[in-house]
Amino acid sequence: MEYPHRFGVIVIGGGHAGTEAALAAARMGVDTVLLTHNIETLGQMSCNPAIGGIGKSHLVREIDALGGAMARATDLGGIQFRVLNARKGPAVRATRAQADRVRYKAAIRGILENQPNLTLFQQAVDDLIVENGRCVGAVTNMGLRFHADAVVLTAGTFLGGVIHVGLDNHQGGRAGDQPSNALARRLRELPFRVDRLKTGTPPRIDGKTVDFSVMEEQWGDDPVPVMSYLGKVEEHPRQVCCYITHTNEQTHDIIRSGFDRSPMFTGVIGGTGPRYCPSIEDKVNRYPDKNSHQIFVEPEGLDTHELYPNGISTSLPFDIQMAAVRSIRGFENARITRPGYAIEYDYFNPQDLKHSLETKHMPGLFFAGQINGTTGYEEAGAQGLLAGLNAALLSQEKEAWAPRRDEAYLGVLVDDLITMGTREPYRMFTSRAEYRLLLREDNADLRLTEKGRELGLVDDTRWAAYVAKRDGMEQEQARLKATFVRPGTAEAERVNALLDKPLPHEYSLMDLLKRPELSYRPLAEAAGLAPVADAVVEQVEIAAKYAGYIDRQEAEIAKLRAAEDQPLPEDFDYGAVKGLSNEVKQKLGEVRPATLGQAGRIPGVTPAAISLLLIYLKKHR
Ligand code: FAD
Repeated sequence: MEYPHRFGVIVIGGGHAGTEAALAAARMGVDTVLLTHNIETLGQMSCNPAIGGIGKSHLVREIDALGGAMARATDLGGIQFRVLNARKGPAVRATRAQADRVRYKAAIRGILENQPNLTLFQQAVDDLIVENGRCVGAVTNMGLRFHADAVVLTAGTFLGGVIHVGLDNHQGGRAGDQPSNALARRLRELPFRVDRLKTGTPPRIDGKTVDFSVMEEQWGDDPVPVMSYLGKVEEHPRQVCCYITHTNEQTHDIIRSGFDRSPMFTGVIGGTGPRYCPSIEDKVNRYPDKNSHQIFVEPEGLDTHELYPNGISTSLPFDIQMAAVRSIRGFENARITRPGYAIEYDYFNPQDLKHSLETKHMPGLFFAGQINGTTGYEEAGAQGLLAGLNAALLSQEKEAWAPRRDEAYLGVLVDDLITMGTREPYRMFTSRAEYRLLLREDNADLRLTEKGRELGLVDDTRWAAYVAKRDGMEQEQARLKATFVRPGTAEAERVNALLDKPLPHEYSLMDLLKRPELSYRPLAEAAGLAPVADAVVEQVEIAAKYAGYIDRQEAEIAKLRAAEDQPLPEDFDYGAVKGLSNEVKQKLGEVRPATLGQAGRIPGVTPAAISLLLIYLKKHR
């Protein structure tokens, strides 16, 4: 049966990737349908109830800068906010929020339901409609056929999902949900490279059975941060405390006693797990000398007693989970509400994707989220937004767009995936970005909102807030450059007091702000300046303090871009370039690119390798 309406874009899957994809396409004015198993699970957090953190908050802010929902839902559902690395440099500062699972999901659903041009439809998709090699639609499990110009697939951990607890296993997309087997079989018939990955989650615990008095308290920051550029602290629900406890030698002995029934150690699970989020059995096995591991005890929400013990993800048998949990300080009488488990699922080699996230082998079909080999809500949401906007551009017969590595973490994420592929669940870190100082969580709007507006992703309210910040910054920088403090004046006396020594001659406020011992607020007060918005102060201050480093990174980017057209001789001896890995040398030798730009687009040839080539060419000109 045909659905009686043709859409511009179909999005399959209502997780973090799918919801951002559907919202992006609809915001761009394209008639969009989101097909998902269950409308009640739109925006569901499959694992930890938290958004953000190092590297990840950068992605959340980029989604926000392009008009997406994740940061907004975090502000509406967040029950504890902290800025990590607050004392370190601005490049690695990261906001993390503990979210009330139910409130977060409700916020996402509210945003979806109120989005013009978006239809929500509850059905499992079992098949894709392919005509002349193009993907032009999807078929649901009751045989309903939807047609569109482009299809975005975001099936998460559901494709061929198998859930493991000890040596028991069963099929499932995540606990309590059916897997997508028919669709997985269909996709395996198509020319995509498919493999298996795995991820895991800890048992959940009934907070009524926990002794918090023996645990360390961990409160959020005061003043409470916000996640969205449009966020307001007043919108946050009540803020709560988290707790910290630890595993001990006894816990580790119990865990070891279950190794012979571990699906991971007995080879029942074949897929690779997330290296940076290992299970507790993995940690005990890998670090035999460590006699304790930290556990963050996080509330799952305001209206539930359930707790998420962050740090003890496991797929050990249930009796071992029970005993291990009860050996932990504060959990002696704990009751488990849901067992921990691991899930194995199909993912596709992301090297088969273009930068737009359209698949190379099937025009019109886009992949986003966990199915591209990533892990994490933020990584999924960011890809979803990119795939959704490119599906919309395809429907509008416009050229695809993707940010570059020097413009966004989203650019780094996609470029890493499609050039290098991944053999293990990929998560974002600030260390993956070459231009960290330019790609900060505080300036994602300055990097992306203008592009978002041009694409049709950014509404008038966000645009007005952005323009006020951008113009405010420019005006403030001009004011600081034009305002001078002259020795002998009252202003100079106050600045002298801040510096603890007299100013030898007159200085502009901008020059004074560049000094490490002076910060904006006291300086502005000393100079008697009228106050400006906090967001403006933050940008002006970072730009002044890090001007040298920022200029250097910008110059490096300009140099690399200018080098794009630099020719590479046909007989270039890549073996002679010191510092290049053998793998890169081999690839360059095989492809023999005509220019540096072309070399940079060869999968696996990193910007660092391009820099080495550039230096070599200059030396041997
Ligand atoms: P999902 O959130 O999985 O959403 C997929 C959506 O697609 C669902 O709504 C589903 O119903 C729908 N769907 C699937 N197939 C179909 C179909 N055929 N038709 C219609 N709808 C369909 N991340 C971490 O960062 N750290 C962790 O430690 C971690 N542990 C995890 C542990 C477990 C057990 C699980 C399940 C996930 C874990 N994750 C973890 C991953 C995190 O949940 C995902 O990265 C994130 O949810 C991926 O978002 P997504 O949108 O790609 O997919």
